[in-house]
Formats: sequence, C-alpha cells, structure tokens
Amino acid sequence: MDIEQSCGSCATSMKVNYSLRFSKGPSWSSSYRCHQCGNAIEVDADGPLGNPVRARLLEKHDCVALIFGGSVSDMNLVKFIKPLAATDIKKAFTLARKIREQGGICGFSCEISWLKLCAENNGIVDFQVVDLIQCVDGKAYAFLDFFDELGN
Ligand SMILES: [Zn+2]
Repeated sequence: MDIEQSCGSCATSMKVNYSLRFSKGPSWSSSYRCHQCGNAIEVDADGPLGNPVRARLLEKHDCVALIFGGSVSDMNLVKFIKPLAATDIKKAFTLARKIREQGGICGFSCEISWLKLCAENNGIVDFQVVDLIQCVDGKAYAFLDFFDELGN
C-alpha cells in the first residue's frame, strides 16, 4: 500500500510504501529513498500502523469488518481476545462486550483476515466479513482502537 508523502529532508513528493505483517501480532514496515536528495528512511515497528498514515491509506484501500454471529458467546470472544494480549479476564470481557455493542471490528482487509484466522483458531465459526465504505463512520470497532485497548 502506498501514499504520496514528502521527503523529510528536501520535501520532494514521492510514493512511500507501507506493508503490514502478522505473526503473533501485527507489525508494519516502511521504506523509501528520495530520488532528489538521496535521503533514505527505513522503519520497522510492532503493533498496528498508526495515524495519520493509517487514515490516509484507509481512504484509498478496502476497509472490511469482522462481524460475529448470534451464536458466538461472550466467553467465545474472551477466548479469542486472550491470546492477542496479556490482558486480564475482566478486561477481556469488557472488550468482548464492546465488540458486540459496536457490531464488529473493522480495519484493512489484511488485518481483518488475520483476526478471522485468530477467531477460527479459537473455535469461532459463526462470523461474516463485510465490506465497509469507510472505516471511520463509527459503525464498527476500529482495529486500531481495539488494539490500543488490549493494552499491547
Ligand atoms: Zn529528498
């Protein structure tokens, strides 16, 4: 995924690529070399990609939501949440209720695919992945907020 950004050194505009990865949790990286002045940047970071870059990329890329069905209990959601963070059981129940209240979790399609896999690994089969026109309309729990609240 890329967006136009200006070089930190000479302010020339260029395409900067961002890639998201998932293993135990989300991480991302970005790199560019300015053709104008040769300034090079490489960033590798743990955790979800943050704003403002995230918001700009979400304007251009697919945003989807993972929505759990009625047969998924709070306990099922807690089992799904617990391995994602060193969060205590009380906090996990609070987050489970929040996922339910907000109707699901939304983010980049690669983020939601990863969460879907985590859900399946915890025995959850009753869910849907739906396209959203925009992530920021408050129709679902944003992946970034969800991760912030996990306390990672
Ligand atoms: Zn430059």
